[in-house]
Amino acid sequence: MTNAARRSLLAELSRLDVGLCTFAAPLRDYCTWRIGGPADLLVEPQNIAQIQRLRRIAHQHDLPCVVIGQGSNLLFSDAGVRGIVLRLGQHFARLHIAGERINAEAGVWVPGLARQAQQAGLAGLEHIVGIPGTVGGLVLMNGGSHRQCIGDLVERVTLVDPEGEIQELSATACNFSYRHSALQGSGGVVVTVELTCPRGDQAEIRRAMLADLRERRRKFPLRLPNCGSVFLSSAAMHASVGPPGRIIEEQGLKGLRVGGAEVSLRHANFIVNRGGASADDVLTLITAIRAEVRKTIGFELDCEVRYVTPEGKIVPAHHACPLP
Ligand SMILES: Cc1cc2nc3c(=O)[nH]c(=O)nc-3n(C[C@H](O)[C@H](O)[C@H](O)COP(=O)(O)OP(=O)(O)OC[C@H]3O[C@@H](n4cnc5c(N)ncnc54)[C@H](O)[C@@H]3O)c2cc1C
Repeated sequence: MTNAARRSLLAELSRLDVGLCTFAAPLRDYCTWRIGGPADLLVEPQNIAQIQRLRRIAHQHDLPCVVIGQGSNLLFSDAGVRGIVLRLGQHFARLHIAGERINAEAGVWVPGLARQAQQAGLAGLEHIVGIPGTVGGLVLMNGGSHRQCIGDLVERVTLVDPEGEIQELSATACNFSYRHSALQGSGGVVVTVELTCPRGDQAEIRRAMLADLRERRRKFPLRLPNCGSVFLSSAAMHASVGPPGRIIEEQGLKGLRVGGAEVSLRHANFIVNRGGASADDVLTLITAIRAEVRKTIGFELDCEVRYVTPEGKIVPAHHACPLP
């Protein structure tokens, strides 16, 4: 499709009932790294019917459609996205708790979910209290901390598939494994998630959450724009060579800088934006870290962070800058 044809199609689309539309939306304003060029069209739907309508049209015309939440695990390209960015947030933020069941819409803020579970005396979500994303992004990434994953508590996920149809997936169909789920790359838009949490002691859950938040404040460079852990820490890797942060620190790479991107002095598995960092700066820095680690300990670090290409593909960031 030519640029002119795509632009006219997007203009037509924005006149339909699909949600709040912003043309040439600067993606740096929609992610925690504060990096990224413009999206042709950013759409914030307010209900499921709007998502279905948008997905059908995008599918019919083969228009790229990138789904995002808080952008806390994403590196957008400097060229932005030539297509649609679909953002789920405040309009999908309802949460309902009945007994041990939690039904959360995809735009629910993860720390808010953890706090509400605590108030209801439900355990198991202590480890997510400091994760600055949405439930949709968390489930897609099978995120968590202290080697736990949200997928352990998921019963069912409801999504809108690329053809605009609603699908319900059981936890088994989601095929969760460490920081991975079958939802990745499926093109589905997660709209609600059902969790089952065991009952626990409210005060004990609260203590565990406060301890987690204290540890994060102490260890993580939270004052500078970042994207959390850049490199994936697998159990096998942990056992044989240690966590990525320690490996990178042991190579003396803390403080290594490319343009505005810097390996955090506080935690070596974080890359911080010191001001004006570009996506190319970050990718060059990722390549330098991976090359050094491979040379010295013979291990290839994989990225947890995802890179969004101008064509709207979402790939682990190291796929965008493979080592020779
Ligand atoms: C300071 C900091 C600390 C962090 N700590 C942790 C941690 O301890 N553990 C951890 O796992 N992560 C951590 N992260 C990473 C990140 O917060 C999580 O991966 C988070 O769950 C991503 O949610 P999001 O809404 O920001 O998703 P985004 O970054 O917007 O998207 C991530 C992926 O999910 C997809 N996606 C988002 N919403 C939907 C949806 N509704 N339907 C379908 N696909 C969707 C996107 O397409 C993309 O592939 C941290 C990040 C920061 C900045």
